[in-house]
Order: sequence, then structure tokens, then C-alpha cells
Amino acid sequence: MQIHRSIRVGIGVVALAVVASACGGSGPKSAVESASDGKLTVGIKYDQPGLGLRNPGGSFTGFDVEVAKYVADKLGVEPQNISFKEAPSPQRETLITNGEVDYIVATYSITDARKQRVDFAGPYFLAGQSLLVQANNTDITGPESLSDAKKLCSVSGSTPAQTVKDRYARDVQLQEFDTYSACVEALRNGAVDAVTTDDIILAGYAARYPGELKIVGEPFTEEPYGIGLAKGDDESRAKINDAIDEMIADGSWERAFNDTVGASGYPVPPPPTVDRY
Ligand code: GLU
Repeated sequence: MQIHRSIRVGIGVVALAVVASACGGSGPKSAVESASDGKLTVGIKYDQPGLGLRNPGGSFTGFDVEVAKYVADKLGVEPQNISFKEAPSPQRETLITNGEVDYIVATYSITDARKQRVDFAGPYFLAGQSLLVQANNTDITGPESLSDAKKLCSVSGSTPAQTVKDRYARDVQLQEFDTYSACVEALRNGAVDAVTTDDIILAGYAARYPGELKIVGEPFTEEPYGIGLAKGDDESRAKINDAIDEMIADGSWERAFNDTVGASGYPVPPPPTVDRY
């Protein structure tokens, strides 16, 4: 029995070594390497109007989509050679570390905790966390008013819900779903009292259901959006940072913003400065 097991383990080790050498043994391709083969796989959101949205016909629209395409172009890849892949908040780091995407542009805040597993180019946008409630709600005016055991929805793998609980309202009841669109449905049918995430995301949903939902209070965190990519892929990160700088400098950033998020009435803010950490 003992012998059999060690033989099996031995075979397993050999099989792993063969797989590793077949892949070059050096893990997934860098974004620049994928681009030099003429293709990129980019993670975006599929359900966030104005930012990352998969339309019924299968096309993709939103500010993050425009940023993703501009960066791809600067890496030498035409839009038709980008494969977009859904990158829900709880899966983003894993999609990158598994090499399933070359980079992610998906309302993805740069945080120290995430930097343990992935790297970020950018920021390309500065958002802030806010609250969305039903338009006729009068008792929720900001994060402090969520005490009193209100039901608050956010997305697992994102930080907003926990921030409210930790900083403002210990007795708030958190409900975490996989997507913000699921939270918005829960808000519309009264299953939760409020949805929390970045103001720019909430603005897209408020615009989608005019007269039904509203944003309350001022933004209460800073959310710098980065382009997530494999940790240690410094060459790609430097090129993507250059692309973001160019997008801001040549006016494409502001144009893309107005053409996408602009429809929600969210005013175009000053662009951020890229942080080459
Ligand atoms: N920007 C926040 C985050 O990256 C919230 C938005 C999101 O989950 O995509 O967690």
C-alpha cells in the first residue's frame, strides 16, 4: 500500500513536470506577449451600464470597454481581436493569476490587499463609494443612517459593504451577491433597503430606472480604478501606463467618458495622474 502510493505520487510529479515544460515552464504569457501574437483577452463587467455592459446583440459598451480598446490599440491589437470575458468582482484576482485574461478593466479599485496577488496600471479614474435607494425613501441619507438594522446589498469580493459596516453602521445587515445588477433587482423589489458601491456605477443604474432609484449623500471613500494584470509583468504595466497617459493627453479619455458615462448625467471629473509605483 505504502509502495503503491509513492509510485502514484511519483507518476503525478512526472506528469506535472511534462505539463510545465510543455507550457515553457514560465507560467501564462504576459499581456505584451499575447499582444505580439495579435490577440488579447480582457476582463470587463457585463452588467454595469455606462462602464462595462454586454448588450443584447452581444456587443460591448461602456467607459471601461473604451479604455480596454484604447490600451489594446496601443499594444498593437485591433478591437476585433479582443476577446472580452466577464470578470465579476469576486473572480478578478483569480482570472489574472490563472492567466485566463491578459488584463482587467472592470471598476477595479487599486488596493494594497489586491496588490499582494496582482499588479495595477493606472489609475485611469477616481470614483468614490456612495448609496443607492428607492426614489421615495426618506430615512436613508448617508452611511450613518444605515444603523437600525437596515438591509444593505453589495458584491462579495468588493470592499464597499464591509467599509460601511466597519466605519459607519455596525448593526447593518449585509447581503452580498455576485453582481451589482442582482443588488439593484433586490432594491427594486424591496428585498434590501440600499445598495452600496462606487458612485459612478450607481449613477448608471439610477439612469436606467429614472424616477425609481436615487443616489443619496456624498461619496465617502476614494476608489482609484486600475487596470489589473499579472504580478511582476512590469513591461506590460509600463506600456499600459503610457497608453493611459496618452488617452488622457489626446482627448480620447474625455470623449470616451462623455460618450458612455455621460448619458447618466455624471459630470466629467478631472482625469487622475498615473501612479508608476
Ligand atoms: N471599485 C470597487 C471594487 O473594486 C467596487 C466596484 C466593483 O466591485 O467592481 O471592489
